[in-house]
Amino acid sequence: MICPECGASNREGATYCDTCGKPLAAAAREKAAQSGNLTGMMTADWTIRSALAGIFGIFGAIAAASFGRWDFVALFVLISVAGWGFLAFTIRNAP
Ligand SMILES: [Zn+2]
Repeated sequence: MICPECGASNREGATYCDTCGKPLAAAAREKAAQSGNLTGMMTADWTIRSALAGIFGIFGAIAAASFGRWDFVALFVLISVAGWGFLAFTIRNAP
């Protein structure tokens, strides 16, 4: 296995890297958790964010409309549209 810390090649199943001494299993787990979940986490994160933006935009627009602030209504509608648009984009591009 390749040491994720220094890139040195070690025999399979080695616990510590022969070159830098970093624990391989822990380092590999760390790395796998980082890179394996990074895309998923980012996607989920952005899905939640865009959904929140979409919902926030709708409620913001309603609130602004009740105050008669049509400039803010336009702003919140834009936020909402951007949120839903990005949500559709992230869902479509999700693995
Ligand atoms: Zn190493």
